[in-house]
Amino acid sequence: MKSFDAIVIGAGQAGPSLAARMVDKGMKVALIERKFLGGTCVNAGCMPTKTLVASARAAHVARNGAAYGVNIPGEIAVDMKVVRARAETVTMNARNGLIGWLGGMDGMSVIYGHARFESPKTVSVNGETLTAPRIFLNVGARPVIPELPGINDIDYLTSTSIIHVDRLPRHLAVIGGSYIGLEFAQMYRRFGAEVSVIEHGPKLASREDEDISDVIAEILRSEGIGVHTDADKIAFASNGSGVSVTAGSATIDASHVLIATGRKPNTDDLGLDVAGVATDKRGFITVDDRLATNVEGIWALGDCNGHGAFTHTSYNDFEIAAANLLDGDDRKVSSRIPAYALYIDPPLGRVGMTEKQARESGRRIMVSTRPMSRVGRANERGETKGFMKVIADAETKQILGAAILGIEGDEVIHGLIDAMNAGTTYPALQWSVPIHPTVSELIPTLLGDLKPV
Ligand SMILES: Cc1cc2nc3c(=O)[nH]c(=O)nc-3n(C[C@H](O)[C@H](O)[C@H](O)COP(=O)(O)OP(=O)(O)OC[C@H]3O[C@@H](n4cnc5c(N)ncnc54)[C@H](O)[C@@H]3O)c2cc1C
Repeated sequence: MKSFDAIVIGAGQAGPSLAARMVDKGMKVALIERKFLGGTCVNAGCMPTKTLVASARAAHVARNGAAYGVNIPGEIAVDMKVVRARAETVTMNARNGLIGWLGGMDGMSVIYGHARFESPKTVSVNGETLTAPRIFLNVGARPVIPELPGINDIDYLTSTSIIHVDRLPRHLAVIGGSYIGLEFAQMYRRFGAEVSVIEHGPKLASREDEDISDVIAEILRSEGIGVHTDADKIAFASNGSGVSVTAGSATIDASHVLIATGRKPNTDDLGLDVAGVATDKRGFITVDDRLATNVEGIWALGDCNGHGAFTHTSYNDFEIAAANLLDGDDRKVSSRIPAYALYIDPPLGRVGMTEKQARESGRRIMVSTRPMSRVGRANERGETKGFMKVIADAETKQILGAAILGIEGDEVIHGLIDAMNAGTTYPALQWSVPIHPTVSELIPTLLGDLKPV
């Protein structure tokens, strides 16, 4: 049996940084990864998809060049092999960076293999048993495949396998109208495929306010994407040229199907029962506010604990665990203000509560909205789709939440993320002198228009 000061299972967005911090403190650490260093974000998530989104935007800009006085003769052709290779390069650079970084550390043992508990303090990997007084789980999540009629009789893509596609589908049917599905839908439409989004709920991006979901649907429809919401009785059947997808009264003749109906934690093959680690009924590892599981000496970080499904939340889990265990701090998950982006174009940047959540909280609230068509920078860029919205507490003057659906929304939202994290009230922000011409310069104006609802 090999002994370590700590074992980290999973080299996603929390594990490697935590392992490195522990090594830096002089600890002997085993970092176990069953596939690729960097986990989902680097290999099958944020990095390849945002690289693909950039290719799709380049095609879109080229196609619309004439409106800017830039004429490109002939049809804009997208070389999917180059598109795929570009995404792979970005992934490989990041993965190789991690291999070099982690491989060069004294005290760090990077072990490739599937880890499984043998007891609360021991883990088996590649037939060997490792032991440590501290074990950190950073095992992430994977796509859920829903049990829909006919699904086992067709070939389908997931968010992982579609990254490697290097040919343009004739017609991509995206099952699931949430963040991952919508990014692929718009991207493939811009690559030149016909695309249909099939969502069984009443609206796209169901966590968002209805006005946001409606504009997201408008943006996608304006590019020729078929959007089918309230799609019940989704079923598949192979036909000669691909897959016939039925959804409510619609039948879609798809060449390819992408299943994007959510993700589930990689906790079913970890031997959690042997260690006595509790999970909720969806398989997420139950943790307290400091990421400790119910078993002393075992912590869970990232997507597998159900307290976030983003790279930044996983990384923040690392920061919380490291601060508490190595720096004598007392940081908590509940201090985190939720923030994220949806990378359609224009993107949606979000922080804090939705208007619906704020209303339901029982507070007296104020809301302000502004269409992007009234933002100078958006007009200059010729990209005026979307709107901004901010929600504030009428009594405390705290900003409760915001959504920027429009150009640079993923960046502009950070002014509000920072203000909320600093506890700045909205009147204080109205005194700032932003740079002209930017989208952010409208934030003080947006705040000035807050009205009680
Ligand atoms: C298509 C897509 C796009 C995304 N885009 C964004 C985005 O733009 N922004 C954003 O913030 N987030 C995005 N995400 C989400 C983001 O990728 C994840 O939230 C993030 O990677 C989670 O990190 P993690 O550290 O929890 O786990 P992961 O990154 O999933 O890493 C877990 C690792 O554990 C390993 N593992 C699992 N079980 C074992 C075992 N038993 N033994 C050994 N190793 C094991 C896995 O192989 C994996 O490498 C996206 C996700 C997808 C799928």
